[in-house]
Amino acid sequence: MKTTKKIMLSESELPKQWYNIMADMPTQPQPMLNPQTRKPLLPQEMEDLFAKGLVEQEFSEKRWHDIPDEVLQLYKNYRPTPLVRAFGLEKALDTPAKIFFKNESISPVGSHKLNSALPQAYFNHIQGITRLTTETGAGQWGSAMSIACKHFGIELEVFMVKQSYEAKPYRKVVMKTYGSKVYASPSNITEYGRKVLAEDPDCRGSLGMAISEAVERAVTQPNTRYTLGSVLNHVLLHQTIIGLEAERQMEMAGEYPDKIIACFGGGSNFSGISFPFLRHKLTGGRSVELIAAEPAACPKLTKGVLEYDFGDSAGMTPLIPMYTLGHDFQPEQIHAAGLRYHGGGRIVSQLKKDGYINSYAIEQLEAFKAGILFAGAEGIIPAPESTHAIAATIREALKAKEAGRADVLLFNLSGHGLLDIPAYEEYL
Ligand SMILES: *Cc1c(COP(=O)(O)O)cnc(C)c1O
Repeated sequence: MKTTKKIMLSESELPKQWYNIMADMPTQPQPMLNPQTRKPLLPQEMEDLFAKGLVEQEFSEKRWHDIPDEVLQLYKNYRPTPLVRAFGLEKALDTPAKIFFKNESISPVGSHKLNSALPQAYFNHIQGITRLTTETGAGQWGSAMSIACKHFGIELEVFMVKQSYEAKPYRKVVMKTYGSKVYASPSNITEYGRKVLAEDPDCRGSLGMAISEAVERAVTQPNTRYTLGSVLNHVLLHQTIIGLEAERQMEMAGEYPDKIIACFGGGSNFSGISFPFLRHKLTGGRSVELIAAEPAACPKLTKGVLEYDFGDSAGMTPLIPMYTLGHDFQPEQIHAAGLRYHGGGRIVSQLKKDGYINSYAIEQLEAFKAGILFAGAEGIIPAPESTHAIAATIREALKAKEAGRADVLLFNLSGHGLLDIPAYEEYL
């Protein structure tokens, strides 16, 4: 039987709701804590920082959330995204495994990040917020927020980790093209940034530091809120659009994934593709294995400890119960800058503790080798982040080959690497 290469949904088949796994978790995650009182954080306490609609989602235990019409219309600019059967990769590996990937790289900014940037800008817009702040590592989240803010007429300030600001100059141009202000973090426009620079003028920055700066700006400027591109429940909620589409597309392909694999920075693309499938396991006992592919340089799930930690370096955010390497952890400088976050978020951490998630810590060299193999086999140059998912998929495909099993593997291609060509040049 000839199977199709690309499995497409029509625009009218775009899911109309996001899925909240909180409704189906066997053990609820521990609450976030107010760092001063150490009491469970109340929704009102988050509203100075985030739009009300997003805070509501953050605390929600409701299973399905309607996607606002205006967001649906914007999703239709690039969604539904294709599910692709990776015949080329299967052949290159000579494996009996059937490999599928969801291609999130086709979004206008080249990654899955837009799936959450659009609703985040929307919920701020309907509340009348006129300025947003955020941080970005590789520049993917900053690019996504930039176009989302442009659409809703919101001003955006982006704090970009200095190391990336210098190593990934084109991302900066993308953000400025969409009209955003971009600062290298640590910067001298915040008190926290000035303090860091006074102690270490050559500081290269980290995501944790950039978050501290963006949070400080949001709480000290009028009519301003902050946005975060991963880790928090509401971000994972938005990203389930990936898995909900994939669920229907796998059905159309007549297959069900044995293993679902995604790279892991703060968990948004991983949760997005896998939670809609995990729900079948939680509610119907269906078997599926979830694999998070982390960089060996920042292995929060594989080597971190589950404890309360801050989301940023300065300790300004609520305390979050999560697998963490410590909020002052400074990972070495890898090309997959989007995976250099120190913690794993509440939901993923609880699911990991309860045995629903496995993780691999993958060395940069293995990831790049996988990326090059994939580029040659499928024609798409993957983002350095996504190469970790590809490397983990290759490990599983080779295991299947050894065992003579036709495992069905589904991975998320979170983004393309066309703005990361200097990283490939260095590898080659
Ligand atoms: C940001 C990013 C990641 C990592 O973030 P998650 O929240 O873990 O998904 C992975 N891939 C790409 C392309 C990214 O831009």
